Amino acid sequence: MVEETADLRVVNARVITQHGTISGGVAARDGVIVAVGDESNLPEAAEEIDAEGNYLIPGFIDPHVHWGLSRYEFEYHEGLEHDFETETRGAVHGGVTSVVNFLLQKERYLPDMDFFKRAGEENSYIDFAYHAIVHQDHHIEEIEGLAEEGIRSYKVFFNWYKHASPELGIDHSDAGRTYKVLNRVADIPGGVVMFHAENEDLAIERRKELQAEGRNDLQAWSESAPNICEAMQIEQIGRLTEYTDSRAYIVHMSTGEGVDICERFQKKGVNLHAETLPAFLSHTYERDDLGVWGKISPPLRGEASKKRLWEGLRTGVVDTVGTDHCPHKIEFKEKGEGKHGDIWEAIPGDSNGIEYFLPVMMSEGVNKNRLSMERVVEVCSTNNAKRFGLYPRKGVIAEGSDADMVIVDLEKSAVVDDDFYHTMEPRYSTFHGQELTGLPTHTIVGGEVVVEDGELLVEPGDRNYLGRGPEGVDLE
Ligand SMILES: [Zn+2]
Repeated sequence: MVEETADLRVVNARVITQHGTISGGVAARDGVIVAVGDESNLPEAAEEIDAEGNYLIPGFIDPHVHWGLSRYEFEYHEGLEHDFETETRGAVHGGVTSVVNFLLQKERYLPDMDFFKRAGEENSYIDFAYHAIVHQDHHIEEIEGLAEEGIRSYKVFFNWYKHASPELGIDHSDAGRTYKVLNRVADIPGGVVMFHAENEDLAIERRKELQAEGRNDLQAWSESAPNICEAMQIEQIGRLTEYTDSRAYIVHMSTGEGVDICERFQKKGVNLHAETLPAFLSHTYERDDLGVWGKISPPLRGEASKKRLWEGLRTGVVDTVGTDHCPHKIEFKEKGEGKHGDIWEAIPGDSNGIEYFLPVMMSEGVNKNRLSMERVVEVCSTNNAKRFGLYPRKGVIAEGSDADMVIVDLEKSAVVDDDFYHTMEPRYSTFHGQELTGLPTHTIVGGEVVVEDGELLVEPGDRNYLGRGPEGVDLE
């Protein structure tokens, strides 16, 4: 019998653990889970929450966000600090308790590491880690140094940005540079190369044709980067990963073709894995009503891809879900032309992903019987922690893990309107107008209740940079 008291107890819950779903509760002390199980076995605590029979799950981990995009208003570093506060405020309202953010700048990353750590520690509502986007030769030189600093995932724009947005100072990577990065990361314990996989040479030609036809609809954006653009790059990534005996991860995989290709390489034992997004699991290019709000990159696909991505999540070919949350103010997103303005000029990317992540996966996944609650927890939390070296500190309800947990009421619903989000820009997302069923009632971060029934109870800051070591990484 445990004699010591705890800080917090959650009781009367259906707790998702790695050994199945149990009826009972969890106790936490000093930010860490100290007991899981039947209530009679939990220590007394200063604070108690009655979950009223609802699910208690590990908080979601968003492995794919782009803080600092508000640089359209701010310099990148200032934008990073800004977005950590505004966007992780949305995260805790939505049930996300850790985040891995993509660093993206032209300069070397290592000289700014102290700033990057401080930016999150001082401004975030949740613990955080980083990926680095390697798009300059000097970034490739930093790979080993970044691993020492706890960054072991490196993203490559495989051919993307060759033609688009040269003013952003982002260099694309050809097969040669891709080979160099894969080869180098193969020697980093727990290292993985992440890929934006779209063939832009083909996309730019299709785009010229569609523009010449005078097309300006959301479906034209999809037709300008057809499924084959993604398939061509994933095929090459699979072969290069096999050739270098390295590890690869396709971010925001959008097509059924991608699922088929990944499955083929996985069967051969190639370490090729994939993430998809709530948007690709929910929408198709037929959503013309979304206008430029539906412009994301890669673009929305057809019904067959959507179906195949859900299948991939069930079979394990697709093993993580992230959001690709890009925080843009609506004026910048629409380039001042409104929701149905110029589709070619509008900025790609969906906002508010980190806040709709859990509600969409509950609404579209669990409540529509596409995925079990246990599988949703695996692909939105546990696998994300394992993939990026955060497990078992994160991604699981178990003794010794951080007490990052969410109570989910599967019957609670809300319509996504201008008041739904708590981020910098709540006025748009690809889910606007949609009713979502399955919402968090309590978000607990480090053993502290941070949001209860929609009310934010804490100030930002005092959070942890999650430097990732080789330990605990499960990439098989
Ligand atoms: Zn992204």
